Amino acid sequence: MRIHELQRRMRDAGAGPLHEHRILRLWSHALPRDSGRRRPDTFFPSSLLAALPAIEAELAGLARIHAVHPGADGSERLLVALADGQTVESVLLPRDGLCVSSQVGCAVGCQFCMTGRDGLLRQVGSAEIVAQVALARARRPVRKVVFMGMGEPAHNLDNVIEAIDLLGTAGDIGHKNLVFSTVGDPRVFDRLQQERVRPALALSLHTTKAALRRKLLPRAPNLAPEELVAAGERYARATGYPIQYQWTLLEGVNDGEDELEGIVRLLAGKYGVLNLIPFNAVDGVPFGRPTWEHCKQIARTLHERGILTKLRYSAGQDVDGGCGQLRARAAQVPVQ
Ligand code: SF4
Repeated sequence: MRIHELQRRMRDAGAGPLHEHRILRLWSHALPRDSGRRRPDTFFPSSLLAALPAIEAELAGLARIHAVHPGADGSERLLVALADGQTVESVLLPRDGLCVSSQVGCAVGCQFCMTGRDGLLRQVGSAEIVAQVALARARRPVRKVVFMGMGEPAHNLDNVIEAIDLLGTAGDIGHKNLVFSTVGDPRVFDRLQQERVRPALALSLHTTKAALRRKLLPRAPNLAPEELVAAGERYARATGYPIQYQWTLLEGVNDGEDELEGIVRLLAGKYGVLNLIPFNAVDGVPFGRPTWEHCKQIARTLHERGILTKLRYSAGQDVDGGCGQLRARAAQVPVQ
């Protein structure tokens, strides 16, 4: 279900803008209809009250939690079953964050990612994206939503933008706490700027070498790292949100002196932060994880050279659940 279809059904049943906002707010906060001071039967038209049970049942049936994998760092990896039996992953992050999936599978095929292995299976609808937030909120508060789970949000742009719009309005999430992550599809930069809810942007950089980037991200748009950073810089200046440049550290691939030089050349003076994420080792994926000491040294060196750098510990690594790994492992287990 797409959110605009849900809105049309509510309007057809006699909902005005305030009724609509109230229903979407309750749903995205995982609150029951009779919560709060104003009970719906005092101000909802009777035609809407009559239609609501069917709409609510449909919303409740969009997604459910199939398995929970708690991490020692306070994160929780959720394997979410969709109505057709497909599964996606959401991750509850420490400090009230949630990472959601925007596609089942992914067409970009990054060499170090399990999600890209089987290609794109299907899009996740805008209502299914918000349903992931509602499921998470039924467990704990969510004040930040990052689109960094399974899928490339730019390849499902209309659904992701619809979900972002709802989360940034009725969902009460601060706009800069909605983070759209992309390998750098040129279409997103202008489109996101035109929306009433403009998210922050995370760009997957991973290397400063164009040829290596083409190899690591084989089906990403063919933008040179310089072009990607230039487009990111324009978005950051237009919105006032710094760009989060993502860099998965792969041992012996993109953790050398030459890359550090390239990073300084590309990012010095830019309105952004570099997130270094040591690779989460996966069986059957031919990459290694640099030692923690080496990762710290890289972060220190870049800091000293004027690059705002954060060394991130990928949430839930102790449950062996990197992006797509839970789904890959659950593939043999039927979803009931
Ligand atoms: Fe797709 Fe992201 Fe995995 Fe790349 S890292 S294949 S863009 S899900």
